[in-house]
Amino acid sequence: MSTGWRPGIPAPTHDDLNSCVQCGLCLPHCPTYRVTGLETSSPRGRIAAMRAVQAGQAPVAGDFTRFTDECLACRACEAACPSSVPFGRLIEATRIQTEAARGAGGRWVRRAGIDGVIGHRRLTRLMGWVLAIVQGLRLDRLLPHHLRMATPRVTVRGLRTPLPASSGEGPVAMLLTGCVMDIAFRPVHRATIDALVRGGFRAVVPTRSGCCGALAAHAGEVGSARRLARERITDFEGASAIVVDSAGCSAHMRTYGHLLADDPQWADRAAAVAATVRDAVEIDAPPGRPCDQRVAVHDACHHLHAQGIGPEVRRTLRAAGATPVDLGDGGRCCGAGGIYNVLQPGMASTLGEQKARAIIATGAPVVAVANPGCAIQIHNHLRAIGSDVEVRHPLEIID
Ligand code: SF4
Ligand code: SF4
Repeated sequence: MSTGWRPGIPAPTHDDLNSCVQCGLCLPHCPTYRVTGLETSSPRGRIAAMRAVQAGQAPVAGDFTRFTDECLACRACEAACPSSVPFGRLIEATRIQTEAARGAGGRWVRRAGIDGVIGHRRLTRLMGWVLAIVQGLRLDRLLPHHLRMATPRVTVRGLRTPLPASSGEGPVAMLLTGCVMDIAFRPVHRATIDALVRGGFRAVVPTRSGCCGALAAHAGEVGSARRLARERITDFEGASAIVVDSAGCSAHMRTYGHLLADDPQWADRAAAVAATVRDAVEIDAPPGRPCDQRVAVHDACHHLHAQGIGPEVRRTLRAAGATPVDLGDGGRCCGAGGIYNVLQPGMASTLGEQKARAIIATGAPVVAVANPGCAIQIHNHLRAIGSDVEVRHPLEIID
């Protein structure tokens, strides 16, 4: 088996790898290291493994793939690193390498799910209807446990929630409807549209909109991620603001400039679209109703570590009279990680249960969660341990 990076596709760069001084200050912040206590499950260990491949001492296979597959790409290490090691960029490039090395046979699950369904709006909607019927007939009980835990609750009512093409007056803010959000979280879109109107925007839902490509990028399917980025750029070009009510999607759309930087036809357009992306919790909108509840706050990794968003969620809740309550777990990842909970069910389940127990310990009746993957993972783990704590997007809580 040949060693070193596979040629002709992106790989971690020498400069990025060498920026790590192996100090280990990131270790206590890494959720997988905290669970296993193993150096190979830590950011420092993963960087050492990448350096071994870079030096031509190891192949993109076997232990290397196992160590890096177990990474959630949550970027908690990046936020904690005093040397500013761009771990998100390193793991993203590594995923492109490991996916290419897996070959078509090992990638079929990702390809079928991401390319075949999630990447096509009509197929995603069809999958939503199938899920609603399967869940309505309670046939989902036949699914393997880890798939059930990773599946959103989809209802006919939710799928039928209408989204007005245009509402309000003012500067145009276009809403990304997305993929999973569009089938399982339409009430969040409604709450976001309401918040935009209250904030003095004209909220527009484009007729053509769909997946931003975050799931594909997260899984190392860079070709699909680039295709979807180009589609969304075409949909959203010219808007004064692109509003995104999923933390993973807003974080990913902000990287469009980087994703298409080597494409002369698209680089400038991608950078311009990325610059107009705003996460929905960054909208400065008055609350739609008062809320005097204590609200536990789960900080999505794609908010906290990827975009530095955290105070905005608390400010939004406080403006409505709610009392935000921190979880006291240092913003640890809930274990959802795109399709991580399907591919790494053991680790995902441990982290999901830890998160659910941290939420229950606050005593709050509702938890604010601004990312669909986290919302699914947290909701399913809360219910699995018998808790009825509600899971809501912050804008739903104040709508
Ligand atoms: S990633 Fe940063 S914090 Fe972690 S070992 Fe390297 S330099 Fe230290
Ligand atoms: S991205 Fe998250 S799981 Fe991966 S090494 Fe960093 S802290 Fe650990």
